[in-house]
Amino acid sequence: MTLKQLKAMSRTELLNHWGNALFPFDNARCGNCLTYHKFIGCERSEHQNLVDSAKQIPLHKFKFKYGVDMGLGLRGNLEQFFAMRLFYADQYEMPVPVDALAEAENAQLCESVT
Ligand SMILES: [Zn+2]
Repeated sequence: MTLKQLKAMSRTELLNHWGNALFPFDNARCGNCLTYHKFIGCERSEHQNLVDSAKQIPLHKFKFKYGVDMGLGLRGNLEQFFAMRLFYADQYEMPVPVDALAEAENAQLCESVT
């Protein structure tokens, strides 16, 4: 799954993708995904940076409650979610998909996470 493929999804497809906890919305070692870290946080102190990064993504909580708007919100922030998932890859059991990694190396996406 690449960023290009994610961007090609409709907002409904993206919403389903997110709802099924698929990359880059899969769960970190703590059992929580990126949006969970953003809206709810994480008990693990080593995930504080992850939480802080996720909170910077401009996706509003009220939209989180309504599926359709969430789909739009995810769409509008795909690059950030994707870059975050790669940046925090060591916090995940599942490795970054090979195609996503290759794409990111070309685009140097990881460097866009501050
Ligand atoms: Zn966590």
